[in-house]
Amino acid sequence: MPISIEIFNPANGDLVGTVPDCDADAVGRLVATARESFEKKTWRGLAPSQRERILWKIGELLLEHRDELARLISQETGKTLREAAGADVAPAADCFRYYAGWVRKLYGETIPVDGPYLNYTLREPVGVVGAIVPWNFPLQTAAWKVAPALACGCSVVLKPSELTPLSALRFAGICAAAGLPEGVLVVATGYGETAGEALSLHEDVDKISFTGSVETARKLLKDSAVSNLKRLSLELGGKSPNIVFPDADFDAAVRGALWGIFGNKGEMCTAGSRLLLHEEIHDRFLAELAAKALKLRLGDPLDPHTQMGPQISARQMDRILHYIALGKREGARLICGGERDTEGAKAHGYFIKPTIFANVTPEMRIAREEIFGPVLCVMRFREEEEAIRIANGTTYGLASAVWTNDLKRAHRMAAEIKAGSVWVNTYNAFDSGSPFGGYKQSGYGRDLGSYALEQYTNVKSVWVAL
Ligand code: NAD
Repeated sequence: MPISIEIFNPANGDLVGTVPDCDADAVGRLVATARESFEKKTWRGLAPSQRERILWKIGELLLEHRDELARLISQETGKTLREAAGADVAPAADCFRYYAGWVRKLYGETIPVDGPYLNYTLREPVGVVGAIVPWNFPLQTAAWKVAPALACGCSVVLKPSELTPLSALRFAGICAAAGLPEGVLVVATGYGETAGEALSLHEDVDKISFTGSVETARKLLKDSAVSNLKRLSLELGGKSPNIVFPDADFDAAVRGALWGIFGNKGEMCTAGSRLLLHEEIHDRFLAELAAKALKLRLGDPLDPHTQMGPQISARQMDRILHYIALGKREGARLICGGERDTEGAKAHGYFIKPTIFANVTPEMRIAREEIFGPVLCVMRFREEEEAIRIANGTTYGLASAVWTNDLKRAHRMAAEIKAGSVWVNTYNAFDSGSPFGGYKQSGYGRDLGSYALEQYTNVKSVWVAL
């Protein structure tokens, strides 16, 4: 029998639940279940309109259970209830309704080939998909993979983070209640090195759709190479530049910078962790931003007045504190935060004060490595070219933002920045219909929109001699 994993609430250390750590045998049984449902066509054999209705229903049920799911996610991750409901449950529900609409629109082409042939293409499901997801937006990232995979007719083994398995299990229960046939979506709880590795090495998994760190992505690539060459799509980390020009709407840009880094307590792959300020506005902007950061209310994530919860785990908190110490050693100027918040009941949780470093240079490690916490690195620039050079001077390329009222400059910057998303005069805008993914070591393949369908289908060319 696999050993159990205990899930603790990072705000107060309370035990929230336990789940099994699936070993290779347990994962093998789950893959076999998913394979059987795929081969027996229990899902892909249903009428498309029926599959469409079931996916839509999953979206509806997720919204019906929004408060319950948000509470569970908040207890697992430490994010506020508002963030859990608005940025995890709501987009997950929307994602299912969006992909419900694709079920009856997935078709091939007839191609005008030379010779006496009819040639046409079929888009077929890839088969059994392993969806390996992280803990920071547990339901949203699961939906980004499960919804399009199901729309394409695949069966899915979902491997949630070892820190957030409870919401994944509840999610699978909701999918079943909506009418998804048994075995089409199964959940392999467990650690990365047990359940995750068993899935990525499995010979009968056709594809892994992954969201997580670069380090794990390298292992998945090796696992694929030494097993069945299963295909991979990778959504990885980021060190996203948030660039403010002097002609920007100042207040909007300050708000964008604040929530770009302190939203979800900085545990966001798209966090605007490098703030590039034009020298004309640098000092005023920094003062305003720091004043707002100091006022952010940290506390119990279930309290509706709380704006920032604790980091997800002691490990994550220690990692962030380590980077803060490094920033000080590297010579960056600490503007605010820079330590744990242990006031009152917060002493029982993993709270870190919103932290801003100024005088950061592109060579510093705090400017190059993903911290994945509430730590902002502020840099100064003078010329547009200099901003582009700093923005692109990283191994990552996930997201970015530009704040300016100069239309031409906005489009020039959007074209020059090497990142999968560029936001102009906004931050963290998402829609189920718009593709999301990375350049460079932020990964490849796209979630969301029509682009995600490529991940879960094979194209077959059929030749008929006439
Ligand atoms: P992680 O890579 O440690 O874990 C992600 C998932 O992979 C978890 O389910 C984990 O159990 C599993 N895993 C770990 N080792 C494995 C192995 N050897 N084989 C198979 N599976 C394994 O990442 P994390 O700490 O959970 O999440 C934080 C990272 O995720 C950050 O780098 C962040 O930027 C990234 N992230 C990216 C996006 C995106 O869309 N680009 C979104 C959210 C998070």
